[in-house]
Amino acid sequence: MTTPVLGVEPRISPEQSASEHAAARQPYVYRRRNAPEPDWRRFPGWRDVSEAEWRDVQWQRAHCVKTSGQLKDVLGDRVADRFYDDLNRDQVERATMSMLVPPQMINTMMVDPLPSAADSWTDSMYADPVRRYMLPVFSDRLTQWPSHPHATRDSLHEHEMWTAEGLTHRYPTKVLAELLSTCPQYCGHCTRMDLVGNSTPSITKLKFVAKPTDRYDDMIAYLRNSPGVRDVVVSGGDVGNLPWSRLEAFVAELLSIENIRDIRLATKALAALPQHWLQPEVRSGVERLAKTARDRGVSLAIHTHVNTAASVTPLVAEAVRAMLDAGVRDVRNQGVLLNGINASVDALLDLSFALLDDAAIMPYYFYMCDMIPFSEHWRLAVWQAQELQHGIMGYLPGFATPRIVCDVPYVGKRWVHQLADYDHTRGISYWTKNYRTGVELDDPEALRRRYEYYDPIHTLPVEGQDWWREHSGDYLTASAETIAAAAESREASR
Ligand code: SF4
Repeated sequence: MTTPVLGVEPRISPEQSASEHAAARQPYVYRRRNAPEPDWRRFPGWRDVSEAEWRDVQWQRAHCVKTSGQLKDVLGDRVADRFYDDLNRDQVERATMSMLVPPQMINTMMVDPLPSAADSWTDSMYADPVRRYMLPVFSDRLTQWPSHPHATRDSLHEHEMWTAEGLTHRYPTKVLAELLSTCPQYCGHCTRMDLVGNSTPSITKLKFVAKPTDRYDDMIAYLRNSPGVRDVVVSGGDVGNLPWSRLEAFVAELLSIENIRDIRLATKALAALPQHWLQPEVRSGVERLAKTARDRGVSLAIHTHVNTAASVTPLVAEAVRAMLDAGVRDVRNQGVLLNGINASVDALLDLSFALLDDAAIMPYYFYMCDMIPFSEHWRLAVWQAQELQHGIMGYLPGFATPRIVCDVPYVGKRWVHQLADYDHTRGISYWTKNYRTGVELDDPEALRRRYEYYDPIHTLPVEGQDWWREHSGDYLTASAETIAAAAESREASR
């Protein structure tokens, strides 16, 4: 017990250890989480679902929520109709992604709904961070600036940098191979909304033209003739939707190319549908690939996409463990920084510790949400991202402290403090780069030019907002491109 010094209050209460006292005085207080798998039987529609069914990937895929009616079948009438109306309106007028949410993800929503108030499930649903990006509703979006005037469908210009259909060569030594255009789940903020998923009333999706086998052959041929490329992100879409034999055959081809030293499989399904990665066929296939990779000195890793701590459940940890046991070198997380979902120091640190402690996933990146149509309510300003990066430093081990990055069009990933200049009034940051993307190889200005990125207009001071009002003309409510795509889509459906 601490003895009070004359006239001085004891700084540590009798119940508190010195270390607890010190921890409690920090802006963020670390606590080991150890959260159990949420019980899916709390939802009326899944009251009788057994554990065997829950762990069955076919059951999960067959019971994905694709419509508001199916969601209502799961949640029952404890969620008010105004929520489903709001969801339907968003699908018709705003959504850039169609609805597709596996039960595993629904089960990470409303883990602790308020039990007492009459509207508690409705309020909990509206407030839920997973719901806010997987099932966006119309009232989530901004009314005045729902899209930035510079928002575009392919905001990173990946298609311009295709060297074979679906193979983006943007960085000197790295490529992105989009093997497919579907996922087991569709995220509302998807960067590849131009191509990934089914068309929505607002967005007619592009389609790959060539047959998958021809595309894969073209990609492999390009890589065999590109000795300067050493690193391939195998993505989509989500490789969790590719028949295993096809994915294994493609990765095996990559492993036969001498210059390829890093292969990363990109799959949000590791967290959204861990049942897929726990299948015996997938586990033994990963083991075969990992052995070949190890024998050839190649690093085979999995990159996943988790945005909230609630998504890191024991079943996700089990799937990660299975992948590490199969010989994958590392599992890393590339989350997206989203306003209303994880844009606070506490939320980012809770998520990072959940990844690291509970699931052995390395917190790696948080991307700023890209400038796609109707994403302004999710996006943050660069200065806000800088503050968050500052706020999360010093708590996690250095190797597990995620970098918050801005994917600047025609530049690529930059740490958020790397900007060259910043007009805070108009919300325009200026960035430089030290390499040429595939479309600038003969451009003498590429390395001298400054590239722009735009903060959401609603975060700007009044004079900045006025400037955009004066200069953005007809773009006030949505980008011209989005409007044109919506009109085209409606025309086609008549
Ligand atoms: S999993 Fe990735 S590719 Fe698929 S919808 Fe989500 S963000 Fe887009």
